[in-house]
Amino acid sequence: MKHDTLVLGAGMVGVGCALHLQARGQSVALVDRRAPGLETSHGNAGLIQREAIAPYALPRGLGFLLSGATNRRVDVRYHALDAARMLGPLWDYHRNSAPDRYKQISREYETLIALSLETHQQLMNEAGVNDLVAGQGYLMLCRTERELQRIFAVADERARDGVNHTKLTGAEVARDEPALVGSFAGAVRWTDPLAISSPSDLVQAYARLFEQRGGVVHLGDATTLRTTDAGGWQVDTADGQTLEASQVVVALGPWTTQLTARFGYTAPVIPKRGYHMHYARLPDRPLHSTIIDTENGYVIAPMKDGLRLTTGAELANVDAPRTPHQLDAAEKIARQNFPLGERVDPEPWMGTRPCMPDMKPVFGPVPGALGLWCAFGHGHQGFTLGPVTGELLAAMMTGAAPRVDVRPFSPARFG
Ligand SMILES: Cc1cc2nc3c(=O)[nH]c(=O)nc-3n(C[C@H](O)[C@H](O)[C@H](O)COP(=O)(O)OP(=O)(O)OC[C@H]3O[C@@H](n4cnc5c(N)ncnc54)[C@H](O)[C@@H]3O)c2cc1C
Repeated sequence: MKHDTLVLGAGMVGVGCALHLQARGQSVALVDRRAPGLETSHGNAGLIQREAIAPYALPRGLGFLLSGATNRRVDVRYHALDAARMLGPLWDYHRNSAPDRYKQISREYETLIALSLETHQQLMNEAGVNDLVAGQGYLMLCRTERELQRIFAVADERARDGVNHTKLTGAEVARDEPALVGSFAGAVRWTDPLAISSPSDLVQAYARLFEQRGGVVHLGDATTLRTTDAGGWQVDTADGQTLEASQVVVALGPWTTQLTARFGYTAPVIPKRGYHMHYARLPDRPLHSTIIDTENGYVIAPMKDGLRLTTGAELANVDAPRTPHQLDAAEKIARQNFPLGERVDPEPWMGTRPCMPDMKPVFGPVPGALGLWCAFGHGHQGFTLGPVTGELLAAMMTGAAPRVDVRPFSPARFG
């Protein structure tokens, strides 16, 4: 079957690309080894993070390094051998987190985040799924006065760039979330973001919209990708078809470079794995907002399947065995403050944030491979940015002018 473009990977990023290419008149086939939205785009904290105009930097303080050495932090852990193999990219990440570089990177990152709400809102309206919005805004909860003042300063800085927030004292936190136990210094409520009640339902709703508009979703293994003698691209589907197109987008999240390497392109992905678990709600102690425990780096999000606890980052290879110690540690702390009932899921879920050393996503033409494009490396905000990347990449692929300068996100900066 011939199409204009094949999109490999049906996470938030791949589905965003497929929809926007289709909107530009292309015939598109979307291929994934599973149904849409069942990997990292399923298990995240469900926030469309309009406030995240600066990406997630590597803390540079000595305290962080020293406390990290014992590998017992709640927010960041690592598999020692895997982390050792990442030392080069981690060193670049460290350098890019220095104030001057970070400022420039954030300026570039902000151009994408600024489009996140409107691109999602448009698709949600078209797909008729505004009911998946569980709430607007979320809380960054601080236990200590020191952390609170740090977060207040971040909020003031972001306010200058048009990001809205409200500052809460400890008493105001207790008023808004009476189910919390314990005393907190205060919080910032970011008021622009959207909290989604089931991230994979949103990806699947977008995938259905793509199908309703004539797109086709296939099960298939992207590693069957090959070039044709005529200079096109082919991939096999699970039901025995061969799909062909002149262009292909590789949007396989943390698995992207495993495939592009076969066509001569690679890039230094830092896999930050994360876990989640759902807990039963306690009927007499409802939680109203998604809350980040900033000092411990985990999130509690009220979702369709219960209260979802998502963990911070585990530096480990994407396919290395699961070690959900961070989840256990975060749960132990969270149980002291949050209204968590029994565990709901039989096993912890695990997924991988594909992070780049310069904290920016990678999308555009793959150097040296005609017709091969990629879209990956969205790190901590791929759920937020999928539709933005889709819009910008579709413009590039169809010869139109993207709405923002896409050069900072070019695949050519690596490889
Ligand atoms: C704990 C946690 C919390 C997070 N919270 C947030 C949040 O609140 N907000 C936010 O914006 N982001 C969040 N993120 C990040 C976000 O989830 C990711 O950046 C985003 O999901 C990446 O989307 P993707 O489409 O690039 O990758 P994925 O969703 O991983 O999709 C890749 C797809 O490729 C497919 N695939 C892989 N290999 C093959 C193959 N060989 N053949 C066919 N298909 C293949 C997979 O099946 C998958 O569907 C969080 C991440 C984690 C881990």
